[in-house]
Amino acid sequence: MQTNFTLAQLADPQVAASEKILRACVHCGFCTATCPTYVLDGNELDSPRGRIYLIKEMLEHDRPATAEVVLHIDRCLSCLACMTTCPSGVHYMHLVDHARVHIEDTYDRPLIERALRATLASLLPYPQRFRLALFAALPAKPFAPLLEAIGLKRLAAMLRLAPWRVPQRPLGPQTFPAVGARKGRVALLAGCVNDVMAPQINAATIAVLTRHGIEVVLPRGAGCCGSLVHHMGRDEEALVQARANIDAWTALEGLDAIVINTSGCGTTVKDYGFMLRTDPAYAERAAGICGLAKDVSEYLAALPLKPVQRIPELVVAYHAACSLQHGQRVNRQPKELLLKLGFAVKDVPDGHLCCGSAGTYNILQPDFARRLRERKVGTIERLRPDVIAAGNIGCITQIAAGTKLPAVHTVELIDWATGGACPPALRAS
Ligand code: SF4
Ligand code: SF4
Repeated sequence: MQTNFTLAQLADPQVAASEKILRACVHCGFCTATCPTYVLDGNELDSPRGRIYLIKEMLEHDRPATAEVVLHIDRCLSCLACMTTCPSGVHYMHLVDHARVHIEDTYDRPLIERALRATLASLLPYPQRFRLALFAALPAKPFAPLLEAIGLKRLAAMLRLAPWRVPQRPLGPQTFPAVGARKGRVALLAGCVNDVMAPQINAATIAVLTRHGIEVVLPRGAGCCGSLVHHMGRDEEALVQARANIDAWTALEGLDAIVINTSGCGTTVKDYGFMLRTDPAYAERAAGICGLAKDVSEYLAALPLKPVQRIPELVVAYHAACSLQHGQRVNRQPKELLLKLGFAVKDVPDGHLCCGSAGTYNILQPDFARRLRERKVGTIERLRPDVIAAGNIGCITQIAAGTKLPAVHTVELIDWATGGACPPALRAS
């Protein structure tokens, strides 16, 4: 695509990066077929190609975001299916991230919208605050259908996603020693939402790693990866969170990997090198962190895992989280691990399409998110599985809100088959 940025504009490294991305797009439109929002409404402006055009016009003319641009960029899930499909290697993720920052800087959102976004940004990345919010949500949860009926759809969406049980206290900084001879040492990104919403995921991750001789460290100072605010265009906040993690992880010696069991976070941590490329104090260390970051399935695939206990012959519908399949291109390892451990694994048809979770998307865009969930749950239920497995808490929560089937993290099944406890969702079903 031809672009017309001035030399002065291109002196800004962010604009220069976006210009390069724009020039790579040949406008072929292959990406439209795999874009969930285009599949839902058939509107070109809700397709990757349409959004790329809107972003180009906005950046090239250096003008404030318009209501039209905001509408269609806000509807984008950042699922990155378009990046998997694109034959020209257009890095849509960096382009839309830039657009979101530009929107945040130049567009005056309505007061309610601003308040909602500020609330999410000040609660979700902080496990203690988030835990208190979930406590407060418990008594209001039964009123979600009523709130939806009177038009308070976002509030209803938040309540539907909150768990029915009392949220657990998040894990503090500590070290979990390897069982037997130590064969490796990793830092675990405990995650802000993961730890409060579904503590069994970190428990299973720590159990399976330590049982296989890996020491697991949760260092002081590490926290949210920054993706929740990054996707809202609040880049300064995201970079503060990224730098804190880099400081915490680089203070540890002898790390083999930074293990991440929330694939949305993993995609962001693996992008720290790009996010901090112009920060002389962090660029080098950020690039080093990208090399160490591993999805838990990538790390476990290199360990000699063996099934040690007989588990029922379960059919697992494997839901490939977008951030894992499109963001990190980790496709093989989760399924191979499950198969090796005795599960029957079924791929979900149209697996490239997002379930509608996408960080805070299911709160900020409840209609699109609900329609995507219904579509996803329909395709999963037609497989008649015993259990749904995914590598991302967002997908697990989103899908579980629309089905009676148990939904678990892949690592919970791996831990169970290698000597750990049965996942709570399976015990309850
Ligand atoms: S597939 Fe790639 S090159 Fe073609 S329109 Fe989409 S982003 Fe542009
Ligand atoms: S990231 Fe997903 S929703 Fe956004 S344009 Fe690409 S395919 Fe469509």
